[in-house]
Amino acid sequence: MKYPNYIQTLSSYIAGKPIDEVARQFNIKPEHIIKLASNENPRGMPEKAKQAILHYLSNIHTNDNAETARYPDANQFNLRQALSKKLNVSAQCLTFGNGSNDILELIVRTLIDPNTDSVMYDEYSFMVYGLATQSIGAPAQIISSMNYAHDLYAMLQAINDKTKIVFIANPNNPTGTFIHGNDLHAFIQSIPKHVCVVLDEAYHEYLPDNLYYNSIDWLKKFDNLIICRTFSKAYGLAALRIGYCVASTEITDYLNRLRQPFNVNSLALIAAQSAITDDEFLHTTRMHNTLGYQQITAGLQKLNVEYIPSYANFIMMHSKEHDLNQKLLQQGIIIRPLHSYGLNDYIRVSIGLEHENAAFLIALSSVLRKK
Ligand SMILES: *Cc1c(COP(=O)(O)O)cnc(C)c1O
Repeated sequence: MKYPNYIQTLSSYIAGKPIDEVARQFNIKPEHIIKLASNENPRGMPEKAKQAILHYLSNIHTNDNAETARYPDANQFNLRQALSKKLNVSAQCLTFGNGSNDILELIVRTLIDPNTDSVMYDEYSFMVYGLATQSIGAPAQIISSMNYAHDLYAMLQAINDKTKIVFIANPNNPTGTFIHGNDLHAFIQSIPKHVCVVLDEAYHEYLPDNLYYNSIDWLKKFDNLIICRTFSKAYGLAALRIGYCVASTEITDYLNRLRQPFNVNSLALIAAQSAITDDEFLHTTRMHNTLGYQQITAGLQKLNVEYIPSYANFIMMHSKEHDLNQKLLQQGIIIRPLHSYGLNDYIRVSIGLEHENAAFLIALSSVLRKK
């Protein structure tokens, strides 16, 4: 079989290892394994979302016409109405996806003509930007980071007639860095109108009050802005796969033409609809995350491990320890090595529950002391 050149050179996304896989590989009981690899919410999902799912599933026992036999609502009416109210945007500005990953790909396929357009992103930014770009054979403009953060000035300088999309992750994954709302706003303002800024706010909910900015408001001014968010991180629905973007009605209309009609499943729809009513849950999640961040960074300082200050629910750290990932896996700790991002001596650790963070620090300290 002949594959296009750009497909032949594509490598698949490396995800954090599942617990069961590590259990089999290292012969450890799954309940003794701690996963801090994929930035999920360690506290699970909001209680209301749980109740909504259980109620929905109870149909399976009581009703021959179980709702799970039906296709999901292709227009996602209920969630669309609820979220449009919550965000104070028109329902026609929302696009839902099978995770925001689905949306990121959809945006690239909708906007990019690989013969004429290129996609710009930071060298240490979310992998999916590069994968989506390469999957359609489009050229990428990869911009060097400055202190592990997006270099907005360099990005602005590098924009040319071909540049069609600029991806900005704020806070950024895997580095955890953050661009202040004012700087971001100024950046979008100075960008030519033919360029679409895709602002990926997967970790937006984790921002402390003093750094919070309302990007949704900016959509009134900028019709070349797309804001992507997800239910996978702070909302604790990673397994259900649901994310969304907010954009102009024009962009949304085009995205909808390419979107698979049933791209979001029914369970994800009802869970998300309940999840957005639970502000208390988000508040507690943020508080736990702040405490966990203090716990882990205090431990790292004791161990003399350098880390990049993070504004999200994970921390990127530096260590030259040989095979660190493997040594942590042997102790049942799953973290995310970052060589696939070109960050060879770095790992990323998600902030977990207190006992999980403690277990990580103990394992790390035992690895680093055995020299
Ligand atoms: C986790 C993540 C996403 C996507 O997550 P989904 O589960 O597909 O919604 C998108 N962008 C960034 C930067 C992420 O870290």
